[in-house]
Amino acid sequence: MRRRQLVAEAIRIVEHALSAMGLRLDEKTGEYYYEETLLKRVLEGSSQSGSCETCDDNVDAGWIDSEDSYPSGDDGPPFHPNCTCEEEYKTSRERVYV
Ligand SMILES: [Zn+2]
Repeated sequence: MRRRQLVAEAIRIVEHALSAMGLRLDEKTGEYYYEETLLKRVLEGSSQSGSCETCDDNVDAGWIDSEDSYPSGDDGPPFHPNCTCEEEYKTSRERVYV
């Protein structure tokens, strides 16, 4: 799990760097548009009972596409009985080059 997250993080950094370079190359011609993606993430619930342990992976996943499932396989909380986790949404705006 950890390793997969590290790899995903590395890929994100590389993609980010590439898009930053592309930005410089394409900016003059303006050959890009903005694409908005709805993202979601889990805000860990207050786990007095020590429940929400299984939610750690979902919280650690951070922002994911709103269409995707969390690591537990669920689309959103509750992930188990008495889960007090909540979901938060935001829109990500990214340049897409044509
Ligand atoms: Zn939970």
